[in-house]
Amino acid sequence: MKKSHGPAFRLEAKPLMVCGICRGATVVSGVFHQLDCIQCNASGWVCATTGEAVPLPDLVQQLSLKLRNMAAELSRATQAHGGAHEQYEQNNRRGAGGSNYTGD
Ligand SMILES: [Zn+2]
Repeated sequence: MKKSHGPAFRLEAKPLMVCGICRGATVVSGVFHQLDCIQCNASGWVCATTGEAVPLPDLVQQLSLKLRNMAAELSRATQAHGGAHEQYEQNNRRGAGGSNYTGD
């Protein structure tokens, strides 16, 4: 099936990679102060296929998608380790020196 141009019917996750200019920091050091990185629209991410900045409206969606996926992955990972979220509210004394450790 040939992909058509124009608005997609479904939101597709595009591969993103960390910006090579600012290395994901979203800013670059100017002479006197830090400047927004123009290579990546100050997002820290560029398109993995072209290496160019993703247009802002797309970028917001892509980052939201990425964040949601990561949050889901993280919650799966914490559940795999015995449901750390259940101990989140109380001091589990599993951190260094018996302090509370929640992993964030
Ligand atoms: Zn950048």
